[in-house]
Amino acid sequence: MGEQAIRILMDPSQDDAAYIRQVAEVKRAVELWSMDPGFARRFREDPAAALAEHGLSVDVLSVQILTSTELATQYNAGDREKIPLAARRYHAFIREKRADRDRMAREECVPVHPAFRAWRSRQLNRCWVELGARNESLIHVPLTFELNIGCSVGCPFCGVAAPQLEKVARYDDETCALWRGILEYTKETIGSAAGSGTCYYATEPFDNPDYEKFTEDFFEVFGIVPQVTTAAAMRRPERTRAYLEKMMPKYRRIHRFSVLSLDILRRICDYFTLEELLFVELLPQFPEAPFCRFANAGRARSGKIRTAPESEGSTICCLSGFVVNLAGHSIRLLTPCGASPEYPTGEQIIARETFTDLADFRRVFEGMISRYMAEELPKTQPLFLRPGLSFEATEDGIAFSRPGIIRLKFCGQDDLPAQLYQDVLRKLRTGGKSAMDIAGELLEESDESPAHVFYLLKKFETAGLFLEPYECEGK
Ligand code: SF4
Repeated sequence: MGEQAIRILMDPSQDDAAYIRQVAEVKRAVELWSMDPGFARRFREDPAAALAEHGLSVDVLSVQILTSTELATQYNAGDREKIPLAARRYHAFIREKRADRDRMAREECVPVHPAFRAWRSRQLNRCWVELGARNESLIHVPLTFELNIGCSVGCPFCGVAAPQLEKVARYDDETCALWRGILEYTKETIGSAAGSGTCYYATEPFDNPDYEKFTEDFFEVFGIVPQVTTAAAMRRPERTRAYLEKMMPKYRRIHRFSVLSLDILRRICDYFTLEELLFVELLPQFPEAPFCRFANAGRARSGKIRTAPESEGSTICCLSGFVVNLAGHSIRLLTPCGASPEYPTGEQIIARETFTDLADFRRVFEGMISRYMAEELPKTQPLFLRPGLSFEATEDGIAFSRPGIIRLKFCGQDDLPAQLYQDVLRKLRTGGKSAMDIAGELLEESDESPAHVFYLLKKFETAGLFLEPYECEGK
């Protein structure tokens, strides 16, 4: 093994076979712990035998530390240098993946189009207020594609309640020209963030017989291989393997297999090597798996499935932007929200339209941006604070809170004293006053500078605290 204690696994130039094998073994042990209902007991009774049963020779202590909160706390608190190398390397890989996800949310998914960028940023901030910690894992992709209508898998827990598979887009001359045109146009309009999404959403990527061809084009335009999450990895495992073998050397990234049963888990582990699965997360999606946790969204809301509590922010939607369906020639504009009777799939679907050809696609895409995505705070539009928030005056300003989720404080200083925050809040609480109304009233009542009032209102708007104009209809 190379001398380097920690390597960047997402960087192929740092590849080392023994290092990769070691991390892949730890990953498998942790996956067995989280998915195989009998593994934890077998491991506790005879750790070495439980690992050997799965062909793993990684040291026992590494797996113990990674699967026991108590042990992890103990080693992290006092005996960090005694943590075995395998555990440290696995942990470094997890940190690497998290940093990658955070970078996507912060940089790669940010559109260059100013109005789209401002709108996405408001949605992202709104989700902190509405979904709390759940928002950490939502990267708010601005654009994603579906190559099919519906999904053949029919998972009873499907968080987006995908309907049955109805149609797939085939890679013929006409569709190929439209596809390439859409990719190039969206790249021109919103920049490289147009390539930050996937080629599936409420669909199964491998339902499409031409998935490979479509994603080759995607790679040519964006230089990115879109991430795959498939629940059909074992439908034609040779296809799944061929796809990974072809695409991983072009663009290393994390893909995901949804594991729908213990039997599928075993088949995946038998078919693929540990190394092949290092960059593939196995997601426990069957109730017997100890770490299975379905979001209470979509079909999982039927009441027949044990789900995470709604207070955890029930949504699997990680988009604040467009879903373009190539098979149905449709565009939907959506953003995450907590699933509820009003929004059962945890998505706020703001608009949905069809298009006929590329010119029409451009018209619909541009139309939705200009209709729904305000870049600046509209000065004459009535403002409404989001429902479900509590507001209070504090000693140094004001605070917005959602019990158990967030408390957001705005503190006065210098030109913007606490009193100004409180005055603006007082005006907002009645609802329906525009920025101009509020600035005018405060100028008259207390000689407040309109510029300061607008500045504060902009701050609240950016924090996602106001309903968007399209949410105010009928108010
Ligand atoms: S969870 Fe995924 S694979 Fe399952 S039905 Fe929904 S879209 Fe299809």
